[in-house]
Amino acid sequence: MEQPISVTRSNFNDWMVPVFAPANFIPVRGEGSRIWDQENKEYIDFAGGIAVNALGHAHPVAVNALTEQAKKLWHVGNGYTNEPVLRLAKQLTENTFADKVFFCNSGAEANEAALKLARKVGLDSGVAGKSGIVAFNNAFHGRTLFTVSAGGQPKYSQDFAPLPNGISHVAYNDLEAAKAVINEQTCAVIVEPVQGEGGVIPADIEFLKGLRALCDQFGALLIFDEVQTGVGRTGALYAYMNYGVTPDVLTTAKALGGGFPVGAMLTTDKFASHFSVGTHGTTYGGNPLASAVAGAVFEFINTPEVLEGVKHRHQYFLDALNTLNAEYQVFDEIRGQGLLIGCVLKAEYAGKAKDITTWAGEEGLLALIAGPNVVRFTPSLIIPEHDIDEGIARLKRALAKLAK
Ligand SMILES: *Cc1c(COP(=O)(O)O)cnc(C)c1O
Repeated sequence: MEQPISVTRSNFNDWMVPVFAPANFIPVRGEGSRIWDQENKEYIDFAGGIAVNALGHAHPVAVNALTEQAKKLWHVGNGYTNEPVLRLAKQLTENTFADKVFFCNSGAEANEAALKLARKVGLDSGVAGKSGIVAFNNAFHGRTLFTVSAGGQPKYSQDFAPLPNGISHVAYNDLEAAKAVINEQTCAVIVEPVQGEGGVIPADIEFLKGLRALCDQFGALLIFDEVQTGVGRTGALYAYMNYGVTPDVLTTAKALGGGFPVGAMLTTDKFASHFSVGTHGTTYGGNPLASAVAGAVFEFINTPEVLEGVKHRHQYFLDALNTLNAEYQVFDEIRGQGLLIGCVLKAEYAGKAKDITTWAGEEGLLALIAGPNVVRFTPSLIIPEHDIDEGIARLKRALAKLAK
C-alpha cells in the first residue's frame, strides 16, 4: 500500500478556511478517555469532543455497531426507510415525552427543524402574525442563519445580515423579562436547560416552569435545546427530567452519536402532524450508519448504572476541583450539572480561560472554554476515576502557570 499523504498542523493554515484555531498538535488515535498525537504524546480528554464522545474513544459498543452496519447498508435516501433508524426512533420515543422524531445530522439542523416547525404550527393556528420567537441572551443554537439569529451572541450573527426577523432576546433566568415579550404572536420559546457555550449556566427551575406556563397560556411551543445537555450529560437521560418540566419539542445531537454525526428533533403527535410530506427534509437524516451507532450509544447510556455514574463523577470532579481551587484561588464559582462543568475565573484572571486550556494542552490535558472567563469540562460519561485524577494533576500544573 502507498504511504498516506504526510500532513502537519501548519497545513491547517495552508488549506483550511480559517474559521477555527485548533491546538498546535494533531490527535491521531484515542482509547477511552486518552488520546495520542502525531508525536505519540498522550493526553487525558476532559473535552470529549465538546460533549460528544460520551463513551470516550473507540468504545467497543460503538465500534461494533458501526462496523456491523458498515457491512450491511450505508445509505438509501429518504425514499426508503431503514431498520436502524426505526429502532432508534422507538428508543427515543419510548424513553422521552415524544411521540415522533425527525432525524438530521447536527444540533443546528435539529434546531432549524424545531424553529421551522414552530413557524408552521403558528401559521396553521390561524392567529395572524403568530411567528414570533423568544430566545435568550448568550444562548447558542448552532451556526445556520436561523439558528445564529436565535442564538443570543450577536458576534455570531451580525456579519450575516439581513437576518431572519421576528426573534426577540431577553435575559436568561429572568422570567419577568420573558413575560414582557411572550404574547399571542409568539409561536415558540427556545431555551437551553443549561446554557453550555454561554458559560455553563443552569436554568432556575422556576424560570423553566414559568416559561412552560407562559407557552401554555399563549399557545406557543416550548423548545428545549438539549444538544449539549442530552443523552446522559447531566446525569438524567435528558435535562428536562431533572427539572420536571416537559417541552413540546426537544433537540438532541452531540452525545447522541458518541462521535458519529447525528441529530434529532423530538416532538408530540400533535405538533409533528404539522410537518406533512414534503414540508421539511434532509438527504442524510436517519442514515443507517448514524442510526446504528446512535442506537447502540443510547442503549448503553440509558441505564441506571451509567446515569448514576455521571452523578457520582460530578461529585468526584467537584471535590477535586474545589481542592485545587483552595490551593490556587483562581475560580469564583464551579458550577454545572453532571459532566457539564464550568469553572468561572475570578475577576483578576478575566479573559484567561483560553490560556489555561492552552497550558493544559502542554501538560497533556484536553479542556474547553465557554466564553473568555469559563473553563469547561465535558468528558466521557464513563471516564475512569484514575483518568480524572491524572487529568486534575495535569490541570494543577496548568493553573500553577496562571497563578505565577
Ligand atoms: C453545539 C450546540 C449546538 C449546535 O450543534 P452543531 O452540531 O454544532 O450544529 C446547538 N445548541 C447547543 C445547545 C449546542 O451546545
